[in-house]
Amino acid sequence: MPAFDYRNGFYHVEDLDLRELAEQFGTPAFIYSESAIREAYHHFELAFADQPHLICYSVKANSNLSILQLLASMGSGFDIVSGGELTRVLKAGGSPKKIVFSGVGKTQEEISQALSIGIHCFNIESEEELTKIEKIASALGIVAPISLRVNPDVDPKTHPYISTGLKQSKFGIPTETALRLYQQADQSAALNIIGMNCHIGSQITELAPFTDALIKLLELADALTQKGIFMEHIDIGGGMAVQYQNEDSVAIADLAEAITELMSGRPQKILLEPGRSLVANAGILLTQVIYVKENSGQNFAIIDAAMNDFIRPALYKAWHNVLPIIQFAEERPEREYEVVGPICESGDFLAKQRRLKIRSGDLLSIQSAGAYGFTMSSNYNSRGRSAEVLVKGTHAKEIRRRESIEDQMRLESNPSFDSGY
Ligand SMILES: *Cc1c(COP(=O)(O)O)cnc(C)c1O
Repeated sequence: MPAFDYRNGFYHVEDLDLRELAEQFGTPAFIYSESAIREAYHHFELAFADQPHLICYSVKANSNLSILQLLASMGSGFDIVSGGELTRVLKAGGSPKKIVFSGVGKTQEEISQALSIGIHCFNIESEEELTKIEKIASALGIVAPISLRVNPDVDPKTHPYISTGLKQSKFGIPTETALRLYQQADQSAALNIIGMNCHIGSQITELAPFTDALIKLLELADALTQKGIFMEHIDIGGGMAVQYQNEDSVAIADLAEAITELMSGRPQKILLEPGRSLVANAGILLTQVIYVKENSGQNFAIIDAAMNDFIRPALYKAWHNVLPIIQFAEERPEREYEVVGPICESGDFLAKQRRLKIRSGDLLSIQSAGAYGFTMSSNYNSRGRSAEVLVKGTHAKEIRRRESIEDQMRLESNPSFDSGY
């Protein structure tokens, strides 16, 4: 049975009616399906069964502790981009030996923290970072396990904001430089070369950019083998597309088949860093229509979720399906709506030009909100961040409570009008 579907005329997540969840937890709320996450993870595991591999879930897609714990319990590793994410993974029971640390701007503190904990690998993005990690590792008397993030210069054909593998992007190291840096690193007693990695972008709908990138990495790995430098793993990053509307999504089975073929006869393990493809379609944003209004022929549905809760439509013009919780609302007139939030910005929209049968008070589900939803949310307009709820069968668990205004103000000093500065 699908994790999200209409039953008896009302939209459900697993065995729970979203009207009940709205009553229990309020709106807006992110609702996740545990079985959908499990299924997505197993799908990857199964596809790559013939190739030694490790899935390192990209934490930034959804970093709720309960989601991380769920993935850790299935054996997942983690791809992190900050010391904060490292702390979350450890708290959720993730194994340090399965953590890879990505990101262009790792600080001294973050590097020391990760070295002391003994993570699997640093994915290094520049010569200066390499030098810094070597220095810190030497001082701590620890050997740093490293991989260089190679920029394979392939066009992932996705949105420019989430395209990271082109020559002119801020990410990664050009192949020629990587060849030199690997030889340099090989001379250091404080560095242990264990891999090579790339990450060419996000929401990539085609197979070719992945295989083109892998071929380039393998060419470099072969050149290094000639010089006596060996890799234990090749990390092809994340970026596998999911279906939001009717675009193609990368069939994980096809990707796995292509990679397994390219890797045949090679000793290296494949690492993968999927984020979106594990969680995007395992979550929805549940919201309520506050008002409907018409301005000069344009209908607006003003909902209680806004760009601070879910910024993808405003930031990337991302299209997310909007479903009414009531399947057959025949008594409501069908109109074309701009679905907007209450924030004082014209960019505050969740969906445009949608034909809906709704009236104020109705509940809506914004689909595919499990990735880059809550993690990109903010307190703009002093709005508390949404609750997050994890559903398993007939059970719902609030895995993050709704933020109150007290929560938001807690870190600010009390205004004192008499003491001055
Ligand atoms: C964001 C990111 C990922 C995950 O990307 P998805 O598109 O969510 O799969 C993986 N690796 C790195 C280095 C990233 O920055």
